[in-house]
Parts: sequence; C-alpha cells; structure tokens
Amino acid sequence: MFRWWRRRRRARILAAPFPEDWLELIEGEVALWGAVPESERPRLMDDLRLFVAERSWEPCGGITLTPPMCAVIAAQACVLTLGRSVDAFDHVRSILVYPTAYRAPDVWEDEAGVVTEEVDEREGEAWEWGTVVLSWQQVIADARNLHGRNLVLHELAHQLDLLDAIGEATLGSAERRAANRRWMASFLEAHERFVDEVDRGRRVKALDEYGAEDEAEFFAVATESFFERGAYLREHHPELYQVLSEYYNQDPASWTLPRPKPGRPAETGRERRRRRREEARRRAKRHKA
Ligand SMILES: [Zn+2]
Repeated sequence: MFRWWRRRRRARILAAPFPEDWLELIEGEVALWGAVPESERPRLMDDLRLFVAERSWEPCGGITLTPPMCAVIAAQACVLTLGRSVDAFDHVRSILVYPTAYRAPDVWEDEAGVVTEEVDEREGEAWEWGTVVLSWQQVIADARNLHGRNLVLHELAHQLDLLDAIGEATLGSAERRAANRRWMASFLEAHERFVDEVDRGRRVKALDEYGAEDEAEFFAVATESFFERGAYLREHHPELYQVLSEYYNQDPASWTLPRPKPGRPAETGRERRRRRREEARRRAKRHKA
C-alpha cells in the first residue's frame, strides 16, 4: 500500500514542470550542477524534486527558507545517489537550515570519560536518527566552487551506508560479500595510510586532514573530494577512488569541470580546520558511525 501510494505521489510530483526559479538558483549557485554530465541532469532534476518533497524542511534562527533554497541543497545531495537510487535517503526525515553558523549546547565525552558541557558554534551536522543540520551561508560558500569541500556532500555522506555495507561483509549474495570485503580492505588500508601521513605531520594531497578523525569522517571528506575533484583524487589515491567509484557507481574523474565563478572568498585552511575540530568534538555522540 505504502509503495503504491508513494509511486503515485512521485508520479504526480514529476508530472509538473520543473520550477523555473529553482533552476535559476541552482544554475547560479551550484558548481557541481555544471560538472554533472548533461545526460544525467534530467535524472538529477527528478531526484531533487523528490528529495525536496519527501523531507521536512525546518527553517531555524530566523531564516526565510524558500523552495529554491531547498532545491539548491537537494541538487547537491542527489549527486551522491545519481548512480544508485534517491531511496538511499529514505531515512533522512528532516533538514534544519540556519542562516549562518549556529550556536548549540553540547555535551561530549572524551576517551578518558571526562564529560564536558558547553555551547559551541557549528556549520552543520548529521544526526544518527535521520536529521541533517546546515548553515545556509556555508552551503552557498561551498556550493559555488569545486574546492573539494562541500558541506552538503559531507553531511549527507554521513547519512549513507558505505560503512554499514562494509560492516555487513558477511551478508547478501556471494558477489555482494566479495565486493564488501574488497571495499573494506581497500578503504581501511587507505584510511590507515592517511592517518599515518597526517600523524607524521605530512600534507596529504586531495584529502582534508580532518579525515584522520575516524573512518566515518574519512568517508565524508573522501566523498567531498571524489565528487568535486575526482581526477585529482584518482591521481593521488587510486585505490580509494576505485572503492568510492564502485560504491557510488559513478566516475566523476571523467567529468568536464565548469570554469570557476567569482564568488565569496573561499574559507581559509585555518577556518576549515577550526570548523572541523569543532565537529570532531561532537562526533562521538551524534554522528552516524
Ligand atoms: Zn563529519
């Protein structure tokens, strides 16, 4: 019954013309849109309309959240599932959007069991029970350029299941199990190599050092790089690229990237490290592992 109802509802949504004002804002703000091959765009347009329709969008901190803004977020999120199905986001129920970085009370526990309570500033987060929180200012700053960092890709990657798939290496068909085992070996090896390099104070090309936090963060930052500068990631981390390419069923290294648009000044490395250190502190409690 549910499937039938959903199919009907989806058909009705997709029968309507694609809203002009959505397309205008997406084309103006989302650099990834220009990178996705033209042949894939009709599918992306369908998926993003379903993504917008099937989530609860919650404006926070006084923001006026318009449908075209939701479409800008959805257009980036749905690039992640272009090679699979937008159903991979079924469990993501709500998207909270703040105008800028937001302050939130936080309670966290370190490895020694020391519990700290404080208020901190955040740009975005993904909760285990299917909620994603985003700062619109950061969404737009990241959307405009293909720098290998993108808040929407990062937080929505946390909602996907590569790590679950790897953890379920003993489930599914023989073929599925073999692929999961292969992914697990390559992915964990790439993560270990990366952590080693970062621990030695070396800069690793094409991957943000924040990925050294744990496997979940490594997957999220590798995902940002994979879609925003796939050829660069493939050049420096071919095995990792291969895992992601099979998992996402896409090959962004082959995409023709659009020319960069002049936008706001990009976040500096120091700002990004600060943002990500803050995220790291909340990771233990809130992030989907
Ligand atoms: Zn993260």
